[in-house]
Amino acid sequence: MNHRFFIKAEQKKDNYIIIKGKDYQHLALSLRLQQGDTIVVSEENNKLADYLVELVEFKDEEVIGEIKKIEKNKTETALDITMAQAVPKNRNMEFVIQKSTELGIKKIIPMLTERTIVRLSQKKEIKRLQRWRRIALEAAKQSQRGIIPAVTKIQNLEKIIINSDYDLVLLYWAAEKQNNFKKIVTEIEKKDISQILIIVGPEGGFSKKEVKMAVKKAGAYTVSLGPRILRTETAGIIALTTILYEFGELSFE
Ligand code: SAH
Repeated sequence: MNHRFFIKAEQKKDNYIIIKGKDYQHLALSLRLQQGDTIVVSEENNKLADYLVELVEFKDEEVIGEIKKIEKNKTETALDITMAQAVPKNRNMEFVIQKSTELGIKKIIPMLTERTIVRLSQKKEIKRLQRWRRIALEAAKQSQRGIIPAVTKIQNLEKIIINSDYDLVLLYWAAEKQNNFKKIVTEIEKKDISQILIIVGPEGGFSKKEVKMAVKKAGAYTVSLGPRILRTETAGIIALTTILYEFGELSFE
C-alpha cells in the first residue's frame, strides 16, 4: 500500500506537486522514501480523485512529485455522516475522532449539552481543536481516506438541532427500548438517504427536554444500541458501525 498524503491546491502545479514542512519530514526522514518511490496524494478540495505520484526530486526541505495517474477515489463512503459527540472526559474525544475517521466519518462536531462535564476556556478550546484536527489528519492518512474529516468548533446541541439539514437524524438514547437502526432501515428509503447526523450524549446522558427538542425540531429518531449502557466514547463508534454495515459500506462492492 502506498503512503498517502494530503495537499492544498497551491501545492499542485500542472502535473507536479510539492511536499514540504511536516509532511516532508515524515516522508523523507521517518518513512525514508526515495526518488522513484510512489505515494498517493489527495487534494483537499478534490475529494473524488487520488493522484498516483512518483517522487522525482528531493531538495533540502521539500520534495517534488510527478502525477503519473489520476484514479477515482475508492475509499470514501457514499454516505455523508456527521457525528455530534458530547465532549467526553479525559482525552476520549481523541479516541472518537481517530476511530470515526478510520471508519469513514465526514464531519465531527464536538458538542456541548446540559450535562456535559467538560467545559473549556476559549484559549483551551483553540488548542484542543488544533490537536483534534491533527488527529483527524493523521488518522485520515493512515486509513487511506480521500478527505480529512472536518472537526468543527464546539457547538451547543440546540444550535446543531436548529441548523440541521440532514436526510436522517439519529439521537442515541440509553432510555430507548424499542427502536434500533435495523428497524429504522425498514422504515426509510435507503436510496434517499445520504446526509446522516448521529447525536451521542455525555456521561450523564441527555435530559428529557433535549430529547424532545431533537425529535420535535429535527425529526430525530431516538435509537437504542441494546440493553447494555456503553460509554459515550464507545457509543458513537458503534452507532457509526451499525449504519455503515446496514448500508453495505463495510465490504468491497
Ligand atoms: N446514564 C446515562 C447513560 C449515558 S451513556 C443515561 O441514562 O442516558 C452516554 C451516551 O452514550 C448516551 O447519552 C447515549 O447517547 C449513548 N449510549 C450509551 N449506551 C447506549 C445504548 N444502550 N443505547 C443508545 N445509546 C446509548
